[in-house]
Amino acid sequence: MSTVDQRKFAAKGVNRRQFLATSAKASCAMGLLGMGLTAVAKQSSQLDSLAIRPPGALSEQDFLSACVRCGLCVEACPYDTLKLARWFQGAPTGTPYFTARKIPCEMCEDIPCVKACPSGSLDQSLTDIDESKMGIAVLIDEKNCLNFKGLRCDVCYRACPLIDDAITLEMQHNERSGHHAMFLPTVNSDSCTGCGKCEHVCVLEEPAIKVLPTHIALGKTASHDTYINTEETTLEMLNKGLAL
Ligand code: SF4
Ligand code: SF4
Ligand code: SF4
Repeated sequence: MSTVDQRKFAAKGVNRRQFLATSAKASCAMGLLGMGLTAVAKQSSQLDSLAIRPPGALSEQDFLSACVRCGLCVEACPYDTLKLARWFQGAPTGTPYFTARKIPCEMCEDIPCVKACPSGSLDQSLTDIDESKMGIAVLIDEKNCLNFKGLRCDVCYRACPLIDDAITLEMQHNERSGHHAMFLPTVNSDSCTGCGKCEHVCVLEEPAIKVLPTHIALGKTASHDTYINTEETTLEMLNKGLAL
């Protein structure tokens, strides 16, 4: 420690040992704070990827850049569907999202949330709510879905505003009972708007059908020079003299 520091601590009645102990505590606290913030950031980014955005939202990255966190879409929503995220609430702080299990999107024909958005983060060219892509419903738990057990629950199917288009019941022979049919709820990803009404009404304690953000629910086509080893592409590869 420099002579100046020593004089300063001597004047305040602080000795070298006390100074070192205080410094150690301070750096420990900073370390814990750093670890805490890292954990918050990690948890936040895990939650972010599952946030369901309002109708017309741009792709997540573009949405996050454009949204000014003004909350006007939340105010405009007549059903209290939209919320502005706070810390640990499933989306970056201040951005709008909704939890389908609690309050799904009511599919307002005039889409007031989109009209209220001043930043373009909700696409103003969306004029038909049936064209919205808030997410995609996925039947995530076949084991507990009552229709998969051979019962006629059908609740998710009947709640869908685009019944027989976004969701259908596909008949399948019930191998378990041998003589009954099963009617399997099947989501058509091209038509599903991600409104979340099916998730909202699912009779199970934990819904068997859930709305996921589109980038999680859908697969991605292989890039142009990636070959899938089907009979056709194998032939194609042989013709091109490529190794299999
Ligand atoms: S469409 Fe209607 S119910 Fe759905 S989020 Fe917008 S304002 Fe709310
Ligand atoms: S109105 Fe638009 S900019 Fe404002 S919070 Fe909603 S999405 Fe973000
Ligand atoms: S989220 Fe569910 S209820 Fe809404 S359109 Fe898709 S399948 Fe239908």
